[in-house]
Amino acid sequence: MIVEIISVGTEILMGNIVNTNAQYLAKRLAHLGLDCHFQTVVGDNPARIKSALDVAYSRADTVIMTGGLGPTKDDLTKEMLMEYFGKVPIVDAKVLNFLEERAKARGFGKLSDGMKKQAIVPADSLILYNHHGTAPGCVMERDGKICILLPGPPHEMQPMFEECCELYLNGKSDKILVSIIIKCLSKFDAPISIVGESPVADRLAELLDGVNPTVATYAKEDGCIVRVTAAAENHEAALKILNPVVEACKERIGEAYIKFVKEDTD
Ligand code: ATP
Ligand code: MG
Repeated sequence: MIVEIISVGTEILMGNIVNTNAQYLAKRLAHLGLDCHFQTVVGDNPARIKSALDVAYSRADTVIMTGGLGPTKDDLTKEMLMEYFGKVPIVDAKVLNFLEERAKARGFGKLSDGMKKQAIVPADSLILYNHHGTAPGCVMERDGKICILLPGPPHEMQPMFEECCELYLNGKSDKILVSIIIKCLSKFDAPISIVGESPVADRLAELLDGVNPTVATYAKEDGCIVRVTAAAENHEAALKILNPVVEACKERIGEAYIKFVKEDTD
């Protein structure tokens, strides 16, 4: 299964907020063993959201979208997606009831049209109830294409993803990814010539061309990182693939230049 992330929000495009949702989702997808080759940011504009979807579905079968599910006029992702997937909009009685009770408890009386719009959901879809906010998310499927719609606020999006979507996506993935990190010394640790990404990469040479596991280097101020990642049906099988290559990397880099080696559980 190939997944793409589309982050909706003019605020992200304008540089007013940092797209931490895409970073979070990319990490979780990697842990689930799902391939994600592209991430897109698009403003709150129906025509441009549609064009981003057309491009994404030309390369992937599943799109995860965040943002634009709320009550205001610029929150139009869900309406646009229902049209895109040919889904009939229906009122979800559970969400409507929750919103009415919430408004009553806060002394607001009648619900505004904007608030009511959050109770409109696509028919024949999986509704993801929001336990940390008001707007529900949803999963729409049609002709083998899947779209998972999640709210923009990270404190709403993350629990919704972990509580509902991971289980759903896990059922679609036949492998998991496990990574081991080799952290190298930095120039602050010792005046040595192997520090830095390029000398480490030179020593690893053809190990960097591996497919499973993959070996990649990342430059960091406090010392370069080598990440060795394997895809397998379970953790034990992944470690079996990883261990010989990690040992080969350690030997090439030299134990004296390594700060630590650990599994990446972040
Ligand atoms: P709301 O009900 O709050 O309007 P929403 O689903 O409509 O939620 P947006 O209106 O797109 O989401 O964004 C609301 C807020 O969520 C933003 O102001 C920002 O603080 C946060 N947010 C949205 N998208 C992202 C993102 N990609 N990364 C990090 N934060 C985000
Ligand atoms: Mg909004």
